[in-house]
Amino acid sequence: MKAAVLYDAHDFRIKELPRPQIEKDECLLRVKACGVCHSEIHQWDVKLDGLEYPRYIGHEVAGEVIQTGTGVKEFKAGDRVAAWIDGKGYAEEVAVKTNALYPLNSNMPFKYAMAEPIACTVNGIEKTNIRLSDSVALVGTGFMGLILLQELLLKGVNQLIAIDVREDMLELARKLGADVTINPLKQDVVQHVKKLTGGKGVDVSFEIGGNEQTLNLAADICRMEGKLVIFGYHPGPRCIKDLGYWNWMAFDIINAHFRNMNTILTGSRIGMELLNAGKLDMSLLITHEFPLEKIEQAFQTAKDKPKGFVKSVIVI
Ligand SMILES: [Zn+2]
Repeated sequence: MKAAVLYDAHDFRIKELPRPQIEKDECLLRVKACGVCHSEIHQWDVKLDGLEYPRYIGHEVAGEVIQTGTGVKEFKAGDRVAAWIDGKGYAEEVAVKTNALYPLNSNMPFKYAMAEPIACTVNGIEKTNIRLSDSVALVGTGFMGLILLQELLLKGVNQLIAIDVREDMLELARKLGADVTINPLKQDVVQHVKKLTGGKGVDVSFEIGGNEQTLNLAADICRMEGKLVIFGYHPGPRCIKDLGYWNWMAFDIINAHFRNMNTILTGSRIGMELLNAGKLDMSLLITHEFPLEKIEQAFQTAKDKPKGFVKSVIVI
């Protein structure tokens, strides 16, 4: 079977690898789609110290069961599933434990069934403990922000403010139900948010962009004793310049990241149930598709973010 293996920065190679062997409690999947994750762009763009290359990455997989282990009762060949895996997803076939497989509706396109990123958003919202009628800001409305937005509307927030420097993303945010959109390149965000919230700031401020500006902005628009949610992925150095201000503002600081496998699998299950129930609209979010052979292009596109780009998916 073919797999895309990352040998070096900007150097994916398509290799012929042996078919994965499955254990008793595993299924073999024919991979139909694998999303390109923002967290993978770093290790593709620059060869990172401390990481082993060649690397077998790709973890946002959906596909069809083609073989089941001897102990598997819940799934059979032909079943359509989303999966949570920790790598080896950019391949024609992958072995997955059954407790990390989620059934998909017969009409659900595989490319919409991104269990891992949807699990992150579900868990982020659960950890934040959103209250009915909270005013909520999303700082960064790319792929993850636009999923969070839909889930927050399901929760029932009072006011949903989407903030992004990309007008095309704000347009999508409006389409998906944001009450207000603000572009920091065009408007004073802090002033605008204060006006919308009676001078206080929002009850919950999600930082999603994963950089210093989005983090600072999220803090600047959060009310005193509000929830500052660090949802973004921050792979850089460990420094928070504004801790004094955060401290004074008595923010409830929530790091919306998870490492416990049970939490991740539960979030995946809830997310895939929402997807199957038609509660999450992924049709506007999966904007770019590439075959396995064009994986370099898929990553380059995810890095460049051309107009209208939300998410690259490898479709096999
Ligand atoms: Zn991911």
